[in-house]
Amino acid sequence: MSRRVRVRFAPSPTGPLHMGGVRTALFNYLFAKKHGGDFLLRIEDTDQTRYVPGAEEYIIEALKWCNIPFDEGVGIGGNCGPYRQSERKPIYKKYADELIANGWAYYAFDTPEELDAMRKKLEEEKSSTLQYDAITRKMMRNSITISKEETEKLLNEGVQYVIRFKMPDNEELKMTDLIRGEVIVNTRTLDDKVLFKSDGMPTYHLANVVDDYLMDISHVIRGEEWLPSMPLHVMLYRAFGWTDKMPQFSHLPLLLKPDGKGKLSKRDGDRLGFPVFPLQWTSPEGEISSGYRESGYFADAFVNLLALLGWNSGTEQEIFTKEELVELFSLERVGKSGSKFDPEKAKWFNHQYLRTKSNEELAKLYLPILETKNIQVSEEFVVKVIALIKDRATFVKDFWEHSSFLFEAPTTYDEAVIKKRWKEDVPDALKKIIAIIILHSTDDIQKLHDKVMEFIQANELNMGQIMNCFRLCLVGGSKGPDLFEMIGLLGEREVVTRLEKALDTIKI
Ligand code: GLU
Repeated sequence: MSRRVRVRFAPSPTGPLHMGGVRTALFNYLFAKKHGGDFLLRIEDTDQTRYVPGAEEYIIEALKWCNIPFDEGVGIGGNCGPYRQSERKPIYKKYADELIANGWAYYAFDTPEELDAMRKKLEEEKSSTLQYDAITRKMMRNSITISKEETEKLLNEGVQYVIRFKMPDNEELKMTDLIRGEVIVNTRTLDDKVLFKSDGMPTYHLANVVDDYLMDISHVIRGEEWLPSMPLHVMLYRAFGWTDKMPQFSHLPLLLKPDGKGKLSKRDGDRLGFPVFPLQWTSPEGEISSGYRESGYFADAFVNLLALLGWNSGTEQEIFTKEELVELFSLERVGKSGSKFDPEKAKWFNHQYLRTKSNEELAKLYLPILETKNIQVSEEFVVKVIALIKDRATFVKDFWEHSSFLFEAPTTYDEAVIKKRWKEDVPDALKKIIAIIILHSTDDIQKLHDKVMEFIQANELNMGQIMNCFRLCLVGGSKGPDLFEMIGLLGEREVVTRLEKALDTIKI
């Protein structure tokens, strides 16, 4: 029987979640749902020195905003809880002891000074590796080099210690990564990682593997930065005798800077003006970093763009609903090489999503902005405004720039347009157009359009000139959507008032 798919997102609350982290969560979620499995959220907070207040809440809120729900985890519980590692502290000691007992781990009592001295000595000897490993452990103060009695004595005296993994010397370790294929590492290159510290806290490696085992995780899908940890994790499964429960590993490619040179960092975002975090983050020191949400991105657009950073469907399609992503997602279609982040493409995604949202939905988002500008209009009017302008906007916050003149009559008129277009015969022509508007009203825009055209042609007037001046009177410049659509929206009375005011104001 094949194993039930259970995956986890296991962030450490050391700061805001980077967009790469959200992508990891997303790929885990998509994989779980595709296979009818479970997606867990586990908070890996064993390293108390790196704990940042607010980070855990931030992670949970970010997943919520992105609509990436988890089935088990912090805040919602489940059968394998608790899901916060600091609350699982009593669990880990037993496993560290088990490895001591079966010879896969040992106590090391070296003081920081002794470790420093070892490093110096290795440096002086021009040793190729500067690490605590199968060779150097023989020169250090640990339960391998000292007697059992001495070890016991030190433990009883409460001397500080760490428990290190006893990495075998010179063994060729063959592993499989579902994205990278076969990965071969010689254990000679690996060090004896610390698994447990005398403060009673496990390190990331021990807690991570023990929890994956206890939570019955079938697939580990995480960022490429964890690839170097895979050999140790595989060895730990072996050491515990859990190889039948070993998850399958997948390491996702890095997100790269827009120029492809190196890992995408917060600094690139600051430098190039785009967010690297899903939500705005205020650090404990008060420093603010921008977020996709606050920058005006729709959550579904953000998720869509993340999905395509490292994965592709094999077709030209770029816009996917979440259901489609679940349906199409596979680890085989995740690339090995890093994916360049393109901030312009991110905006393009938002524009695409904005265009397909209903005018009513967008009006609800625009109304609060209008309120801050003291504009009081009906929702119905806003819906119509949005229909005219949404193709030009990337974000809801751009709406004002594209439509302010539909809510407020102009108070100034663009000098350049006046200079170029406002010729002697213009005022008279516009006065005649006012009469046409009053006669025919703005109810039937097509008809009004035809009447105005007829008038211009019959009097052999310059079409471009009159139309540009007409627009100038309505919006104060040469901007705005289709002139007659605007006329229809503003209505007869407003159009006439604006024309009359402009005729009074503009002098040449
Ligand atoms: N706590 C690790 C992190 O912060 C988890 C890595 C893993 O998924 O194994 O990313």
